[in-house]
Amino acid sequence: MEVQKISRKCTVKHTPICKFLGSDGCEKCSLYNANVKEYEKVKTNEIWEVTQTNLPHNADMFHESETCLFCRKRPGNPKVGYAVIDMAHPDPPYKKGMIFGLGSLQRADVGSLIPFPIAICRECRRKYRLAENFKFYSALLGFVIGLIVVLAISQWEVIQYSPTYIPMVLLLFIMALVYVAGGWLSKKLIKKYSAEMYFRVFDIPETREMDELGWFVYRDEQEKTRMLISSKKPRKNFKFFSNDPRQPGDP
Ligand SMILES: [Zn+2]
Repeated sequence: MEVQKISRKCTVKHTPICKFLGSDGCEKCSLYNANVKEYEKVKTNEIWEVTQTNLPHNADMFHESETCLFCRKRPGNPKVGYAVIDMAHPDPPYKKGMIFGLGSLQRADVGSLIPFPIAICRECRRKYRLAENFKFYSALLGFVIGLIVVLAISQWEVIQYSPTYIPMVLLLFIMALVYVAGGWLSKKLIKKYSAEMYFRVFDIPETREMDELGWFVYRDEQEKTRMLISSKKPRKNFKFFSNDPRQPGDP
């Protein structure tokens, strides 16, 4: 017989936070693993209940959808993975502490911060990654080109008699130049692909309610939403609203 490892003392067992964080069982629950104190668990559940009231009822549709939501066409291409976005909401109010007792308590911008997985297809994933990696590759390419140029001209008499910092300045200058060009090309690429896909999460028509409810992307970028592309959800049984009467770990 398999022995169920269940934390029997957990004060938030059978509460909404248990179904959210503990959806893969107590052994995999971050509240259980991080040794969170019992009163803090209760507090986490209180916050989570507020977070849930701010979520649209179809919040689970975004990851349960079998078709991509980043495709402009509907229905989108078949799902191959998830774009996980750090979604933030101002509620519940959270006060930033005073520093050494000085200053007044300030309301922080982020009261709730959740991973928000959205179904993505192979095509949209490829386009997003290409735009995402462009800057990185251009920095790398700039370094290589710069190095080649510096090495090539190092034998020139004018370089040999100039101050020693000149090759370094030249290298940095070429790197900056290629990096700027890469950023510009990346923007062009996003513009081109935008005819077929949404690069910004709140451009997806289905996210309108999230937007109206006050959700925003934590530390977002300009041209495209900052997101992590993964083949898996944050948890196997990840769900914002679980109707399953059984609790994680129940036989
Ligand atoms: Zn797609």
